[in-house]
Amino acid sequence: MAGLKIGVAGAGVLGRLLAWRLARMGHTVTVFDPAPGPLPPAPGALTSPAPAHAAGFTAAGMLSPLAELDSASPEVAHLGWRSLALWREVADALDAEGESQPLFVQHGSLLLAHGSDRGAAQRVLARLAHARALAGEMPAPEPLDRAALAALEPSLAPGLHAWLLPGEAQLMPREMLAALAAHAPGVWWCWGERVQRVAPGLLQVAGEAPMNFDLVIDVRGCGAKPDATVRGVRGEVIWLHAPGVRLQRPVRLLHPRHRVYIVPRPGDLLVVGATEIESEDRSPVSLRSAVELMSAAHSVLPELAEARIVHMESNLRPALPDNEPATHTEPGLLRINGLFRHGWLLAPALVQDALEELGLPPAPLRGFPPPVAEGGSSLRPGQARSAAALDAALAPTASSDDSLSRCAAP
Ligand SMILES: Cc1cc2nc3c(=O)[nH]c(=O)nc-3n(C[C@H](O)[C@H](O)[C@H](O)COP(=O)(O)OP(=O)(O)OC[C@H]3O[C@@H](n4cnc5c(N)ncnc54)[C@H](O)[C@@H]3O)c2cc1C
Repeated sequence: MAGLKIGVAGAGVLGRLLAWRLARMGHTVTVFDPAPGPLPPAPGALTSPAPAHAAGFTAAGMLSPLAELDSASPEVAHLGWRSLALWREVADALDAEGESQPLFVQHGSLLLAHGSDRGAAQRVLARLAHARALAGEMPAPEPLDRAALAALEPSLAPGLHAWLLPGEAQLMPREMLAALAAHAPGVWWCWGERVQRVAPGLLQVAGEAPMNFDLVIDVRGCGAKPDATVRGVRGEVIWLHAPGVRLQRPVRLLHPRHRVYIVPRPGDLLVVGATEIESEDRSPVSLRSAVELMSAAHSVLPELAEARIVHMESNLRPALPDNEPATHTEPGLLRINGLFRHGWLLAPALVQDALEELGLPPAPLRGFPPPVAEGGSSLRPGQARSAAALDAALAPTASSDDSLSRCAAP
């Protein structure tokens, strides 16, 4: 089935991945989001609260199905394990379309524990072993001795207990979100548009008349209230600039009180995260969180003492009451929400399953033919269809479609 008119509410992780995939399948996709544009607020705003933006921008980008088993279900881990290969394919496809920056890196990750916390670490490993047996497929954590750890990550403090989680990966969230928008052929992006009503085949932007679509997709995350029983769970991260501190892969510290991770990013940056606080407070990072995150990070990477704090950010993870993701399909409507603390990890597998359920199985990404514009000529990535063609395709029920005139290709 090709050539559907699809309206998407929300341009976060799910919204952009869906738009990117559906446009490549030949559908006419229009995405609505209240954000002012495709890019996140600039890093560096330490004191003033940033405007609400997708949780996906704030995320560390860890793709850790094994480590997430500490708190997530085997089903979540299994979805995450499937997603690793799918993200690699997405990154390869974007790379082939000219993305020059690394979007996806797969060197495994490390679980670490201080000597005094070995008991807590053993309890976590036992939970992982039990859940891994249920989830299947995934490799076991590999214990590392002092020499093996020093060979893998020489900057880490000596004397740490360490386990390698093979196959785990990371992606660059801001760059991936930007690339998905920039390389989505013919998608119309309607920024500054808050969707207030979603129903099968119908989507309504605040202050506008309802618009008809063949399929409406609701991926508004925390913004889906009250249609979804979603809540925001506050998370805080800190960016450090640490030239000379060598870290090849994400590390996670097993600690009785904190789940702290350090994720390397290009440009000598390290992201330290993340708190998990039952609050919908989007205000800046608290002193207590900053102190706890940074002291835990410093305890495993002593060379961080001279790192510079370049950015702090807080955001809300969209979570449902059981902290599990949920997909709902009915004719003319798809809703996905509740990706909680592992949205990047789960998104590709959830998207693939949802499209199959809707009878829209996504085509393989490798060797996918270039998208075709109306009139038969090839459409370059991100290139817009004509405004007249868009208006005709969308056929809004409204007498006025002024809101759509504000929509643009990236
Ligand atoms: C601090 C932190 C660290 C994290 N680290 C990781 C990690 O390492 N790995 C991982 O897998 N996950 C991580 N996550 C979780 C991940 O970011 C989320 O699960 C994921 O972003 C959820 O994707 P989503 O598309 O459902 O929601 P979002 O990414 O939040 O996107 C929702 C979009 O909907 C838009 N929207 C809201 N209201 C409306 C409306 N009324 N109309 C139209 N659009 C609307 C928003 O503007 C936004 O663009 C982290 C999250 C946080 C906060």
